[in-house]
Amino acid sequence: MSQVILPPAMLGILGGGQLGRMFAVAAKTMGYSVTVLDPDPNAPAAAFADVHLRAPYNDHAALKELAETCAAVTTEFENVNADSMRWLARHIPVSPSGDCVAIAQDRILEKSYIRKAGLATAPYLALETVSDLNHDLAPYLPGILKTARLGYDGKGQINVATPAEARAAYADLGGQPCVLEKRVPLALEVSAIVTRTSAHEVAVFPIAENRHAQGILDVSIVPARIPSELAEQARQMARQLAETLDYVGVLAVEFFVLEDNSLVVNEMAPRPHNSGHYTIDGCATDQFQQQVRAMCGLYPGRTDLLSPIVMVNLLGDVWGEAGSEPKWEVLMQAPNAKLHLYGKKEARPGRKMGHFCVLAPDAEAAIEQAEAIKSTL
Ligand code: ADP
Ligand code: MG
Repeated sequence: MSQVILPPAMLGILGGGQLGRMFAVAAKTMGYSVTVLDPDPNAPAAAFADVHLRAPYNDHAALKELAETCAAVTTEFENVNADSMRWLARHIPVSPSGDCVAIAQDRILEKSYIRKAGLATAPYLALETVSDLNHDLAPYLPGILKTARLGYDGKGQINVATPAEARAAYADLGGQPCVLEKRVPLALEVSAIVTRTSAHEVAVFPIAENRHAQGILDVSIVPARIPSELAEQARQMARQLAETLDYVGVLAVEFFVLEDNSLVVNEMAPRPHNSGHYTIDGCATDQFQQQVRAMCGLYPGRTDLLSPIVMVNLLGDVWGEAGSEPKWEVLMQAPNAKLHLYGKKEARPGRKMGHFCVLAPDAEAAIEQAEAIKSTL
């Protein structure tokens, strides 16, 4: 049983991107101190951290400093070295565990754990080596070949229709371990964010409905426009996955809602998630406060939705060619809209620069207003 960690203890986080930044804001607001490990001198989280260790994620001196100065450590970044987390865990509480992070880093392991939890995935074939291409590929076609590791925002994926295309795509991806996943008929995509503490208390946020554009999350709508039984089922599935993994921390679970209204787990992230940013403005407790609570051995906060809400991502594409700022006037003047910028110096196409949320009496009204605001930027 881990001990409760109270302010002003120092909390450590591996990774200093926008998720680390929002974690730091939550932790600092609650009275904790924050150390961020991130090699980037311009890491967005550094602006809110007490200490910024500028070193690689496997730098021994930096890890030693975290172990000596922090009461607990978490991560905002799933491709952090799992061995660094295991090493830290020999000295201080680390959540989620390096083992859980290692599972989420590898689509093959990830899908096998999802099935172990008794949950459905899309039909898939693990391609560990080139010889696995000798299996009958027909059940997985037309499909998507996805690298087992380091894919995000649709990167590392190739659509394939025939066995010959699958073989060519495998070679194009460099012959690394992959999964060949059958394309399933999507009605919608939704996600659940679950918090599980070391005392095994679990809280799940309301389900978000997610729309993507060019493989990147574009809009999250909450409550998701799906039957309430289906939303409840998704929350239950997320809980089941967290329990199977003996997970401690915040876990994001992405689902496909199929045309027959069944739910399939797509993937998970061992950290707060872009589709959970709505919780900052829309819920009694937000996902970063939950991350702090889980790592400190505190009870999870209430997750109830205070208002229907829509979150819109702001990618670098919205900034001008010469890096000029979007026109914020309309957004900033709307009493029910909330802007969040991540403090990134350089806007690039596809780069997540910020997001905004719109609160309204119902999801449809929020979507309409969010779209109207976006068109003014
Ligand atoms: P990433 O790690 O890049 O988010 P995902 O596996 O979530 O990768 O795939 C990105 C998007 O591609 C999904 O959100 C979904 O829209 C689409 N997609 C992925 N796999 C399938 C599938 N098996 N069937 C249909 N659409 C899919
Ligand atoms: Mg995804």
